[in-house]
Amino acid sequence: MEDLIIIGTGCAGLTAAIYTARAGLSPLVFEGPMPGGQLTATSEIENFPGFPDGIDGYSLIENMRRQATRFGARFEYATIETLNLNTTPRQLHTTSKTYETRAIIIATGAAPRLLDIPGEKEFFGGKGVSTCATCDGAFYRDMDVAIIGGGDSACEEALFLARFASRVWLVHRRDKLRASEIMARRVLAHAKITPVWNTAPTAILGDDAGLVRAIACQTTPAGQLVEIACKGVFIAIGHKPNTQPFANILPMDTNGYLLTATGSTHTQVAGIFAAGDCADSIYRQAITAAGTGCRAAIEAERWLQHREH
Ligand code: NAP
Repeated sequence: MEDLIIIGTGCAGLTAAIYTARAGLSPLVFEGPMPGGQLTATSEIENFPGFPDGIDGYSLIENMRRQATRFGARFEYATIETLNLNTTPRQLHTTSKTYETRAIIIATGAAPRLLDIPGEKEFFGGKGVSTCATCDGAFYRDMDVAIIGGGDSACEEALFLARFASRVWLVHRRDKLRASEIMARRVLAHAKITPVWNTAPTAILGDDAGLVRAIACQTTPAGQLVEIACKGVFIAIGHKPNTQPFANILPMDTNGYLLTATGSTHTQVAGIFAAGDCADSIYRQAITAAGTGCRAAIEAERWLQHREH
């Protein structure tokens, strides 16, 4: 039986692994279908404290993994399919094996929703397509960029991009933003942000250098074809937390984000903690994921200690 199992090896899971391994818990850490999480798809991270010259996502994750291994974290490549919380110890099932543990930290992250149109995957990561304005916006100084979506994320990212870009096209499939009133007002009043209403992207187009040059779109409902010239395309059509294995097992909100007690990473189930983007629909940054990973580690360690006495 394990003392602690951590599910996920993004920033949150690895930070939890570093802290709990250093505390002598020898955690077993599960690497799922995307080892390293969303950061491994990010070309360069300029806002993670401690790296004044930036660091690429892969190296940051690899450093954290080495750090956790150094203190005794153990890694296993397997996807957790489901949990059994009716037993003590708790049981986790992969397709081929069952594991038992006293405590669990869930750090399975979230995945940005994608448009699933031609060019999207081809130009992703450093070639013009991104799902994170906070991560990549500064690379588009004095260039025209487009943001796709009409929710709070799209508006927040449009405002962030407007600090660097010469123009931000806000491409939305309807003629009204879904975002909160205050966000919508701010965006629509911004001199650098131009909404493109009733327009749905159909392809992302590149130049001879293999970089984005424009988005091909179709207007709705007229079906007219238009091209929007831009060097960067930011997709902000929502995120999907990777919490499907816990549906109907752990409390989550209507969008699938795990719910934790106020001011804590503890879920409503004793000994089950949640950290990082699987429980965060608002901040979704590497540093905030690392922060909640640290909190979950300390809370899990204290919970285990308390149970021993
Ligand atoms: P969201 O509210 O679900 O908005 C997604 C947007 O993308 C919608 O405008 C939607 O269009 C559009 N969209 C979806 N699929 C599309 C597709 N295939 N093609 C084109 N457009 C598509 O997601 P979100 O903006 O990420 O926000 C998620 C939650 O986090 C919300 O509750 C939001 O309030 C919250 N949030 C809060 C803050 C904040 O308070 N600062 C910041 C970010 C997010 P339709 O409108 O036509 O459906």
